[in-house]
Amino acid sequence: MNALATQRSPKYVGRFAPSPSGPLHLGSLIAAVSSYVDAKSKNGLWFLRIEDLDPPREPPGAAEYILDQLFTLSLRWDGDVLYQSTRLDAYQESLARLSDQGLSYNCNCTRSQIKAMGSAYDGSCRDKRISLAEEFAIRVKTSNNSIGFDDQIQGYHQQSVEREVGDFIILRKDKLFAYQLAVVIDDDYQQITHVIRGYDLLDSTFRQIHLQNVLGLNTPAYAHIPVIIDHNGKKLSKQHFADPIDAKNDKALIFKALKFLGQAPPIGLAEAPCSEQLEWAIDNWDIQAIPKLANISEKSKRIV
Ligand code: GLU
Repeated sequence: MNALATQRSPKYVGRFAPSPSGPLHLGSLIAAVSSYVDAKSKNGLWFLRIEDLDPPREPPGAAEYILDQLFTLSLRWDGDVLYQSTRLDAYQESLARLSDQGLSYNCNCTRSQIKAMGSAYDGSCRDKRISLAEEFAIRVKTSNNSIGFDDQIQGYHQQSVEREVGDFIILRKDKLFAYQLAVVIDDDYQQITHVIRGYDLLDSTFRQIHLQNVLGLNTPAYAHIPVIIDHNGKKLSKQHFADPIDAKNDKALIFKALKFLGQAPPIGLAEAPCSEQLEWAIDNWDIQAIPKLANISEKSKRIV
């Protein structure tokens, strides 16, 4: 258990959990600002977790660069940074638990077989015996009950994971732990009570709640903020070559992020140091002012 969270037993523990696949871009900065300000407006802790589980996609130095960017922007995290690369034993242990309960199985389907199944995995390896000499992934079994949650920004959402996604991967064929598993294990380990992140991850939430249910873990409150899209309607992401933010423009960036989040900082604040802008945001925070999905493109066009 995380010593800091336990020691102070706060009612609110938030986090920012970037994957170090490149420097922060405006979209990830907005996720950082919203989770930070929401936590601090409720006297909560805000942890930083580096999700470094995919070394081939992590340029050397990217994690340190992200830490520097956050520091320059006055986004100060509580406690020590948690690196997922130090947590492999915990993920392995949860794999063993799922396997012992008969809730997971090995899958050797090829990419093209999976593609041919359409949008949901059809469970075809559930009853196969796959030799350990073969390449295989591990999937968790899903069930046909519907999983729902009340998103603090986007409202109630539900999904039948079995029908819409199917049994999903928790250990990849290349033997890297899947994001869905690691994120659930670490949200529990850090006793996260509130997750605020980009709308693109809303669809993953049902899978994460499924894993929390089968592993007997608490489900945090979730809020998904709109993602910024570029002029072609694509989400800004490292994959889509979103420009990394230049933390030298720190003041303008925080101001832009607050505006995107539907907050109404006074114009004069744009020139104030980041820490002052963030303090204003903490005092005046209104999570309900964050635009809902329907407004995303309109709002984002304004600032990209
Ligand atoms: N590591 C993920 C990303 O950078 C975010 C994970 C999360 O917030 O749940 O997109």
